[in-house]
Amino acid sequence: MVDDEEGNRRRMAVCTSCESAYAARIASDGTVQPIGARDGCRCGSTSFDIVGDEDDGRSVDGA
Ligand SMILES: [Zn+2]
Repeated sequence: MVDDEEGNRRRMAVCTSCESAYAARIASDGTVQPIGARDGCRCGSTSFDIVGDEDDGRSVDGA
């Protein structure tokens, strides 16, 4: 069984289209996997940018 937990990191990811923020996991291969948005952003985009430091403590709630 391969369980690569140590290769996963949690970060904030922001949709490149509508800038909605999600908590995301970064897989060991660098793949961004938004938690709770596995099918992509609610706007339909599946492209995310990793932002800032992990555990910012603030929610990003857009304008
Ligand atoms: Zn979006």
